[in-house]
Amino acid sequence: MRYDDSPQPSESAEPPTSATPADPAGRPWYARRSTLVVGIAALAPACLAGWVLVQVLTGAGTGAGSASGSASGSGSASGSGSGHTARHDAKAAAAPTAPDEDPAESPAKTPAKGPLTGKTVVVDPGHNTGNFKHTDEIEQQVDIGTNLKECDTTGTTTNSGYMEAEFTFDVSLRLRAALEAQGAKVVLTHEGDRPWGPCIDERARIGNEAKADAVVSVHADGVSAGNRGYHVILPARVKGGDADTSPIVGPSRNLGERIASNFARTTGSDPANYLGSGTGLVVRDDLGGLNLSTRPKVFIECGNMRDAKDAAQLTSPEWRQKAAQGIADGIVAFLGG
Ligand SMILES: [Zn+2]
Repeated sequence: MRYDDSPQPSESAEPPTSATPADPAGRPWYARRSTLVVGIAALAPACLAGWVLVQVLTGAGTGAGSASGSASGSGSASGSGSGHTARHDAKAAAAPTAPDEDPAESPAKTPAKGPLTGKTVVVDPGHNTGNFKHTDEIEQQVDIGTNLKECDTTGTTTNSGYMEAEFTFDVSLRLRAALEAQGAKVVLTHEGDRPWGPCIDERARIGNEAKADAVVSVHADGVSAGNRGYHVILPARVKGGDADTSPIVGPSRNLGERIASNFARTTGSDPANYLGSGTGLVVRDDLGGLNLSTRPKVFIECGNMRDAKDAAQLTSPEWRQKAAQGIADGIVAFLGG
């Protein structure tokens, strides 16, 4: 799988061992010296062999080779000065689940053409793996229009310690890839590059300022075992302060219904058995991320991390790929259908 979490084999990086002299009776002079000398002596033939190989492959064009080398060097030096590249580097370093994505190619990648071409989707990975270490910061109160609420929360974990914030970020990366493959411009509310947050009001603002055509906030629930399944949370009609959801209630329900049905299809999961009366849809008026949104927006709780059967799915990279695909298909149905 493209985003398989398993470590990549690296046998090709093993150094050759056959050149090491190992006869204690007839040790040559350099074997009595320090191990450093032995190492250098052992490496020298390999370096020479490598140099000869390079000469053969490049047709001994040392002049041309160094010229092209300095040209590409100056190119990357000028690029690394920009904020965009620095931000991208941080993102790439924080995305170990995408090992085969070439960071050097992404900034210049031509957007795919598809049903989401010209559309902007904001994906909000719920919580942040650093929130546990920044409880003072995330407990600060922010104004969600209807009332004050904590800036952010830690989220839940499975019984074995897999964090909801890890789950949401992984699914969000997969979702971004799936949406970009359909032509969308995708904005994440955070890239795994900040120590905590963002606060829920900022998460909403990112979607609003991006003029997103659709926003989805990715979560997993943390309720007692035996409670299973997914549910999509839709904004209630609220008005107060900066909150006025009346323009988004209708389109958000449309978005949520399409995400729910496609998520059920790709994952095989059932709607939550503990709320929503079996519809997989719940309306809430207490979430700042929904109350402050001016764009069609839903949350999805993909399963219950505290239930062993749901947790087995949530911790599976293959299942997370199906989850992301279902959410993406729902967004395509909403925007491109
Ligand atoms: Zn959550």
